[in-house]
Amino acid sequence: MHARKLGFRSSHATFCVAFPLALFAVCNAINIDKLAKWFRMGEGLDIIGLSAYLLAGASLSVAFFVVIAHRRTVKPLAILLTVLSATATYFIAKYDVAVDTSMIMNVVNTDSTEVGGLLSLHMLPYVVLLIIAPAITILAGEIAFEASGRYLLTSAKIFATAFIVAIAALYLNYNAVIRAGNVSNKYIVYSLVPINVISGGINAAWKAAKPWFTSHTHAELRATVASPGDLVVVLAIGESSRRRNFSLYGYSRKDTNPALRRVDGLQLLDGIAKRGSTLDALPEILEKSGAKLPALVAAAGIPTACYVNYTLYDNCNGVGEAKATGCGHAGKCYDEDVIPMLRDNIESYSTGQRLVVLHLGGGSHGPIYKDRYPPEFRRFLPICDDADVANQCSREQLYNSYDNTILYVDHVVNGILRTLDDSGAPYVFIYLSDHGESLLDGGRMFHGMPPGMALPPEQAQIPLIVRSSVPISIVRRAAYTQPDVYDTVLELLSVETPLFDTRGSFIRRASSLAGG
Ligand SMILES: [Zn+2]
Repeated sequence: MHARKLGFRSSHATFCVAFPLALFAVCNAINIDKLAKWFRMGEGLDIIGLSAYLLAGASLSVAFFVVIAHRRTVKPLAILLTVLSATATYFIAKYDVAVDTSMIMNVVNTDSTEVGGLLSLHMLPYVVLLIIAPAITILAGEIAFEASGRYLLTSAKIFATAFIVAIAALYLNYNAVIRAGNVSNKYIVYSLVPINVISGGINAAWKAAKPWFTSHTHAELRATVASPGDLVVVLAIGESSRRRNFSLYGYSRKDTNPALRRVDGLQLLDGIAKRGSTLDALPEILEKSGAKLPALVAAAGIPTACYVNYTLYDNCNGVGEAKATGCGHAGKCYDEDVIPMLRDNIESYSTGQRLVVLHLGGGSHGPIYKDRYPPEFRRFLPICDDADVANQCSREQLYNSYDNTILYVDHVVNGILRTLDDSGAPYVFIYLSDHGESLLDGGRMFHGMPPGMALPPEQAQIPLIVRSSVPISIVRRAAYTQPDVYDTVLELLSVETPLFDTRGSFIRRASSLAGG
């Protein structure tokens, strides 16, 4: 009768099976090589293991979708899942990223300029073929539901069948899947669309909702000052700036540290980062047992401030972060714009102790490195503007783009030190990066590894630079971890708290040495 319909007609049951299977097949076909390589066996491919894994993934996709597909939700949620899956597929194809909880939380928390930086014209075919075409198809189609009781019964049957198939596929090939999971450190999960999107999304939602379910009283901040002195501790935290591109540490392709090279008394230590995402790395430096360092120091009665370009997320909770605004480059802020805030703070200093945390959040973050430094720091040329750095930039362009960020870090850190020297305040200054960066080292790009997987050296090795205007000694170690910085700040400010671990602290004030 109604022959005007252009789209498909489908029963609820057929759609709930066909849609997730089609989505799964198309998205994973594009990146099948990245998944298959973990199922190598000797010279060949473990076809049975890989097939079982894919079957399990496809079945779980169906099981998940049938749970959320109801009369009013089926189309919007199918389109949402399509958009998320297509986006994940694009980033896996282009950047080999692992789509996990922290990645999804980073996307949700990231500001719009950062997201804009990730977009590229190369996304266009993905948008047209993997988002627009399927979305139109879904919208134009007609999905017929039976009466409530009957369609829910059908859904339950589909769910049970899909779930049993998934478990059976995994169980019968337990060895192959566990091996691939271990070798890849769960990358086989983080790269399997839409399983990665679904599990990452559920975990991220749970993490975000958890505070509402747990008690609001956080770890009690018990801290006192043992021996009040006169000292300003300035802790500057950088972003994605890797140690191996600092000339101070021996980099020779370009001189990336012309300013700091002329500064005397710098302590150049070998810092080690453990987590490859800002969201995970900042608490490595600023949190212990749930106690944020700025809040803990403030609880001891020491005036504390956080000045940020970008954000420290919740790591300055209890104190509150002040963001750089009204910046000199036509309103666009760069890391140098936290310096005037530091200057204003120090101007009022006469005696006592202070902690200032500076977040140099622009740092050396990709993919468009030139957005992180003002135009006058485009000194090493030619550089590259494309977000698709892995394919569109020469190695020289990539390195120039990145090395300019280190040149700018050099300028900003030097500016901070000059400000501190000019103030005449007694200070200890510590700079470190949250993590390093991969620049096609071993084919890797940017930063971030799945949880539990050690960072590759270029992401783990970070600069840790110390300078002071008061006599100090450095506890010499082969490497310094980020939690060591937490202990060091506590010791410098002689904050007494059960959280302090003397083994971590690596800077001793000369007076405390004399006192034994
Ligand atoms: Zn970061």
